Amino acid sequence: MFMHSFTHSFENYQILESFDSLIHSVSENQKQFHQKVEEIRGNHYTSIKSYYEESRRLIKMLKETAFLCSLMFNIDDEKNICVSTLNILQKMLQETIMIRILCASSSRTKLDVVAEKKFVDDEIKAGCLKSPLNCIAIRTCRPIVFSPAESTVPCPEMMDSPEQYAYICTPLIAEGVAFGCINILFAHDTDINLLKRNLDLINILAGYASLAIYTNRLIKTVKREALTDKLTGLPNRRFGMEALQNEINRSKRYGHVFSIAMVDIDHFKLVNDSYGHTEGDKVLAMMADLARKCLRNVDLVARFGGEEFLIILPETDIKRAYVVIERFCKMFNEASFSDVLCAKNLTLSGGIAQFPHDGEDAHSLLKMADERLYLAKNSGRNRVIADKLN
Ligand code: GH3
Ligand code: MG
Ligand code: MG
Repeated sequence: MFMHSFTHSFENYQILESFDSLIHSVSENQKQFHQKVEEIRGNHYTSIKSYYEESRRLIKMLKETAFLCSLMFNIDDEKNICVSTLNILQKMLQETIMIRILCASSSRTKLDVVAEKKFVDDEIKAGCLKSPLNCIAIRTCRPIVFSPAESTVPCPEMMDSPEQYAYICTPLIAEGVAFGCINILFAHDTDINLLKRNLDLINILAGYASLAIYTNRLIKTVKREALTDKLTGLPNRRFGMEALQNEINRSKRYGHVFSIAMVDIDHFKLVNDSYGHTEGDKVLAMMADLARKCLRNVDLVARFGGEEFLIILPETDIKRAYVVIERFCKMFNEASFSDVLCAKNLTLSGGIAQFPHDGEDAHSLLKMADERLYLAKNSGRNRVIADKLN
């Protein structure tokens, strides 16, 4: 019985011990398990946290960028759009060495640096892009991401020492044609993944900048064309009227005088009838060239009607205006342009009026100049009439 119970209790002890060790090993496992869980949770937490923070940073940056970009459409000057783009890039990106924005000249033969900012003191030899044709980003309409450690130099002309910097070059594109690029230099050991992450933001910004520059150019072209006569390249009647009103306002304010002249080609219908409209057009263009050459920069010549021109002579009294317009008519008469066969012995008639004596507003001033022009026509043409002199 005793024996039995001893054996029994021994067995129990063994069992207990096994339990103990089992419990110990379970708790060890549990500990390890918890450690593992903590570790995994920790790792994930850190990566999720950094991912979350990076996303927040990007969203904040995108919001800020979108706001700043929307302001770009209110800027009325291409250079200022580029400067503003550069400032946004500077805010968005870290560790940049230099940011440049380049635009192709109108002939597309060279690239001009429109905005540039350097963030280190070293001398950077990165100005040797000579032509849009040499810029791969412009040629291919695709951005370039270059890291000296990772790739060969895609744009051999980009820098004197290409191994010196990593860079991103993003084209500025409008209507499928690249007209410039944004160049950003980074330290040569910048991680390629960081460059690629930056590229998305730079592309968005390049898109906004392209649109703002393109819109600005378009508005300027439309405005210019709306105020320019296509055949002669001179300001048109609308521009002439605006300029006249401005001159009246200015002269009123300062108590100055100025003169205007209405000048008309004599018997111009005959030119068309004898030589055809194309030759007639050439005469009109020739007259515009002559006016540009022989009048002062401050004077304004506008094509007022078919073969009728308005000339505004600021700070000029009627006597002086008479001398100037007479001289112009004489030059026109004597001009010989080999490619304009019919431009021989053509004459002009003109009527001059002075502000404020002959009229204090645009309408009365023009009326007086017109009356004198018709007086010149009726008294034999090829003459200038300024009432106070004739
Ligand atoms: P006047 O000495 O009285 O001014 O006679 P004119 O023949 O010059 O004047 P008129 O008003 O009889 O004729 C003007 C001519 O100018 C007729 C018109 O066809 C021509 N003209 C107007 N605009 C243009 C243009 O853009 N190109 C050409 N080739 N001719 C034009
Ligand atoms: Mg005429
Ligand atoms: Mg006429």
